[in-house]
Amino acid sequence: MLELSTAVQFVKGIGPRVAAVLEQKGVSTVEDLLYYLPFRYEDRQNPRAIDELVPGEMATVIAEVRSAGLFRTRSGMWIFNLVVGQGTQSLTAMWFHGQYMRDRFKPGQVLALYGRVEQSESKRVGRLKLIQPQVEVLSGPQEAGEEALPEDLAAQSLEIGKIVPIYESAGSGKLTSRWFRRVIHGALAQLTPEVADGIPRAVRARMELAPRREAFQKAHWPDPETPSADLDARRTPAHRRLIFEELFYLEVGLELKRKRMREQPGIEFTAGDAVRAAVKKILPFHPTNAQKRVLGEVVADMKANTPMRRLLQGDVGSGKTIVALQAAVVAIENGYQVALMAPTEILAAQHYLSARRVLEPLGYRVLLLTGSLEPDTKRTARRHIAQGNAQIVIGTHALIQESVEFAKLGLVIVDEQHRFGVMQRFRLMKKKSDEKDPDVLVMTATPIPRTLALTLYGDLDVSVLDELPPGRTPVVTRRVNDERAGEVWEFVRKQVQAGNQAYVVYPVIEERTPEGQVEEESAGGAARATAGGTPALRKKKRTQLALPGSEAAETATKTSGLKAAEKMYNELRKKVFPELRVGLLHGRMDADLKDVTMKRFGRGEIDVLVSTTVIEVGVDVPNANVMVIEHAERFGLSQLHQLRGRIGRGTAKSYCVLMTSHKVTTEGEERLETMVRTNDGFEIAEKDLEQRGPGEFFGTKQAGMPAFRVANLIRDRQLLEAAKKEAAALVAGASPDVTRAEAMTVMEHLRAHWQRRYGLVEVG
Ligand code: ADP
Ligand code: MG
Repeated sequence: MLELSTAVQFVKGIGPRVAAVLEQKGVSTVEDLLYYLPFRYEDRQNPRAIDELVPGEMATVIAEVRSAGLFRTRSGMWIFNLVVGQGTQSLTAMWFHGQYMRDRFKPGQVLALYGRVEQSESKRVGRLKLIQPQVEVLSGPQEAGEEALPEDLAAQSLEIGKIVPIYESAGSGKLTSRWFRRVIHGALAQLTPEVADGIPRAVRARMELAPRREAFQKAHWPDPETPSADLDARRTPAHRRLIFEELFYLEVGLELKRKRMREQPGIEFTAGDAVRAAVKKILPFHPTNAQKRVLGEVVADMKANTPMRRLLQGDVGSGKTIVALQAAVVAIENGYQVALMAPTEILAAQHYLSARRVLEPLGYRVLLLTGSLEPDTKRTARRHIAQGNAQIVIGTHALIQESVEFAKLGLVIVDEQHRFGVMQRFRLMKKKSDEKDPDVLVMTATPIPRTLALTLYGDLDVSVLDELPPGRTPVVTRRVNDERAGEVWEFVRKQVQAGNQAYVVYPVIEERTPEGQVEEESAGGAARATAGGTPALRKKKRTQLALPGSEAAETATKTSGLKAAEKMYNELRKKVFPELRVGLLHGRMDADLKDVTMKRFGRGEIDVLVSTTVIEVGVDVPNANVMVIEHAERFGLSQLHQLRGRIGRGTAKSYCVLMTSHKVTTEGEERLETMVRTNDGFEIAEKDLEQRGPGEFFGTKQAGMPAFRVANLIRDRQLLEAAKKEAAALVAGASPDVTRAEAMTVMEHLRAHWQRRYGLVEVG
């Protein structure tokens, strides 16, 4: 008998050597092995006869190997052709670039092939063919290199007449799908009849969850009548159960963190009449209702005796800055200091300017602290901060966090948080041991889809600015092929002549490095659109990329054939707009020069600003109403949305032109189409998340995303909401019919698994 906790090497068919391979996949116990779920199912209950196949359908065919061969097309591509047969019928399967298949098959082997049926042009063998089908050897000699199985396991027929699970192979192909099928089937057969279920009985009943053992069994070996649509969508009762379980523990963990945070002592700011008057005084305009509501939420947190941990979401241009500055006034009026952190120097400098404009009239001292300041200046700044002379300090994230000691820090504001991830780092901020934790307000402009917010920021409170300041008209977005660039420049010229300003954005700074390659400013969107190959390969390429928009990203990866900011700057300046004032801005420019350029653009002394994605975040020049993005197909959705957010800030009608060059991938097309269709940041974020997945959406691991075994945040959003609700009730002790003992069991489970499973910070 096997227990869930039994080490995997005691499962039949797994010795110490294979166990070591599995260990690398995160599989060390029987339970882990059972969580190694199929990524796909194949309905082999009704394998098809070759003569019933219809072009266009997906079908499973069980047939015998007749002959195989590799040949080369005129264009030089290798194609592997495999002829299989049933009696007198025969069928060809073909694989492009199929050299690797050459030695895999021997005549007489029985195969299961699963793939799309297509009409064959060849008259010689059969009338149909299977293009790049999945293939598996059912009988005959085992596949080259495959792990051998003990006789009694190998003998069982698990290949035909069933809905068959298909597993990702492991150990460089040695542990094949067929191998997993048998070993997992064996493990299930050996598993104790009773397995412990940590989810409280009442929760199970409310959610109508399948018993745990049955869920494992049926997620691997579905009942014959299970609809394939349910399997594909992971919507069978078995899947639901396993997914809910995973999400439930995650949410309980987050709720516990949240509760513990609430139990910490925080600063109790007061907001009496004097404070309120000061907060009102700084307002340069009437706040929107959303701004009023959110400020109310923030101030209520600040007054409470626990530290604020609030996420403020609001689409680009929704007016987050002023809300943050109002919160700053509350802190300052209470005698505390405020730190405002921005992801880039440009944005820090811009916040510095607007903070001075708004706060200095009230006599508050605002200080800028960025990496490019002279060492002397930095030293002086630090001293002023330590002595409490500066009341609000604005700077780049890393700098403030790592090297500044405050006299009396009360509020930390983090702008554009999604670039950084992990909240917990604020703990590291230097403070005296007897001080209370400062309040933290995190702002993000890439709206985080609710599902992700619940997971990633499950321990934060969330406010949403869901209203744009008055007088905004939605940006009109058009997609134009760059053959029509002439017309686009003419349009820009007209707009400038009417008194407006324009951005022209490029994906890279310069065209070539000595090897004839290009350096990209911010690779986030760019390489994504061009990366080809398998999903795994694509993933690999992507994860090498730095975070878009971060200053470190600006010397990122290499690619070719792109128009670049520096060159186009010269071309636009000299040839296209000789009569206009054209400026250049990119991340590798000297900080002073960047600063001067931004200021000149802000004052209207530059008509057309040629730039890279450094302007992506936060830049605010209301008079700019046109943005032309070249190679728009190469940017990610969130990035395009951020870029477009630079315009539509004034009263003039705004235009975004997405220029594309020759080839655009299907995903690229979808992105452009989405941008043209909507201005809604939430819709765009959802789409982006859908295309890229949570890891990429947030810039890989940075964000502290848990790695799920079964759950998928996009697919399973409803279950996530339900899990969140049950978890919150449980932690609050308000879950009906859950006994204390059951709650303790949940906590025990978390204590044992949290770190390993979710990779997030510890739960106490
Ligand atoms: P974001 O949320 O993207 O950070 P900002 O705070 O930069 O947005 O605000 C965008 C622009 O809208 C700024 O020029 C700001 O001064 C202006 N703004 C913000 N709130 C209002 C308001 N209530 N009425 C008029 N203009 C506003
Ligand atoms: Mg902003």
